[in-house]
Amino acid sequence: METVEKPKAPPDSVKQFKDYLESCGLRLTTKRQDILEQVYAYNGHFQAEDLLVQMRRNGYRASRPTIYRTLPLLVKSGLLTEFIDAQKNTRYESIHSLREHAHLICLRCSQIVEFKEPKIDALQKAVCEEHAFKPVRFRNEIIGYCAECQAELEPTSSTTDA
Ligand SMILES: [Zn+2]
Ligand SMILES: [Zn+2]
Repeated sequence: METVEKPKAPPDSVKQFKDYLESCGLRLTTKRQDILEQVYAYNGHFQAEDLLVQMRRNGYRASRPTIYRTLPLLVKSGLLTEFIDAQKNTRYESIHSLREHAHLICLRCSQIVEFKEPKIDALQKAVCEEHAFKPVRFRNEIIGYCAECQAELEPTSSTTDA
């Protein structure tokens, strides 16, 4: 059997999740910790089903209901972010990979473009400070139409004055 290096969620993330669960009278069970680890290991955007597939592939005996119940807890704990795509599917991304970027989401083709803009981060921080607000997570998404979809939607209005 091959030994696959198991990605570890950092201790402060585990603690953050544990603290959140305890504040709701819940325990950090092995199953919940497994899901946290696998969420942490997931590179990029995923849906609950994608995580289930990954966990089964990695040899976890993960059950669908546990995953569906645990993901919202991770979102509330601030470790996971959720966003809705054009097909109204809930997609997730762990905070440690999201921290780096924000999203442009196309309403027509569901394409998700990631972008980085340090100025936005700085502005958000300034707004929080101004309001003495302690941020847990940021959600940066802009919903609209990508360049290809715009071109297909309005083939006649292509401007050349750029
Ligand atoms: Zn992303
Ligand atoms: Zn598009």
